[in-house]
Amino acid sequence: MNARADAAAGSEAADFYNDLVKHRLIIPGGVQGAFGRGAEFEKVLEAFNALVSRISAGDGAEFCTFPPVIDRRIIERVDYMDNFPDLCGAVCSFFGNEREARALSEKIHAGEPWGGALGMTQVVLNPAACYPLYPTLTGTQAQGGRLVTMLNWVFRHEPSPQPTRMQSFRVREFVRVGNQDDVIAWRDMWLGRGVDLLRSLGLAAQPDVASDPFFGRAGKMLAGNQLEQKLKYEVLVPVNTGDKPTAVCSFNFHQQHFGSTFGILTPDGQAAYTACLGFGLERVVMALFKAHGFKTALWPDAVRQRLWP
Ligand code: ZN
Repeated sequence: MNARADAAAGSEAADFYNDLVKHRLIIPGGVQGAFGRGAEFEKVLEAFNALVSRISAGDGAEFCTFPPVIDRRIIERVDYMDNFPDLCGAVCSFFGNEREARALSEKIHAGEPWGGALGMTQVVLNPAACYPLYPTLTGTQAQGGRLVTMLNWVFRHEPSPQPTRMQSFRVREFVRVGNQDDVIAWRDMWLGRGVDLLRSLGLAAQPDVASDPFFGRAGKMLAGNQLEQKLKYEVLVPVNTGDKPTAVCSFNFHQQHFGSTFGILTPDGQAAYTACLGFGLERVVMALFKAHGFKTALWPDAVRQRLWP
């Protein structure tokens, strides 16, 4: 995109943000990407999440949820800090004595930087909805593998004026563990189902191959490999602007990466294959408000019936 088109897209995103605020759908929180959500916003989010549960009820996924903080060792073991150091959120706290506590207080009240007075805790903010699950799966899986679904808050340190680029948001996630054929067939089934689901809500959803925002020059190569091997797909919907649609759902095939890292084994003793898919719930909700207007009472009947049967 050239600079003028970029600026136009930026102002369209800013207008959309202001409209969401005006209708009390989002509530500014002082920091970019860390706003509150109003009642009507949450009503739509819960309805979409429930719809996802209804259309997948026959799959028999086990449900669980994890808190927004996870064991720091998880992101160390999956090389997160090699690939996405700029997106991480490590939780720090104060470990000093009383004298150091007074020095900390003085720094803060004098408006000076105070991060140096803190040390790392055992937890980090969870950057990917499925991460906390893998260490719980260590061991040999039952025949046929495993299917788990979660609703987790995730964190990405990427403040932005675009409402769709949040620092903290919810993902409705599914994880399939098993042999290669089963996992790929499941991913492909959901890719079609996810597109159909979003289109049934009047959204102009399009699937595409995608890559993660790996850090630095080495990251460009990793992203290239990911695209070439078609390890990641996204479903895109226009939200901020028509010419640069937003990913509202992503599908990741991890091959044996988590299986070998966490000792997740198939019955024949091989490292299991895994894939996951996640709906970015806030983004889906914003796409619906963008497509159908800011008052749910005025949305098309077909969409309302699908969300609130
Ligand atoms: Zn995932």
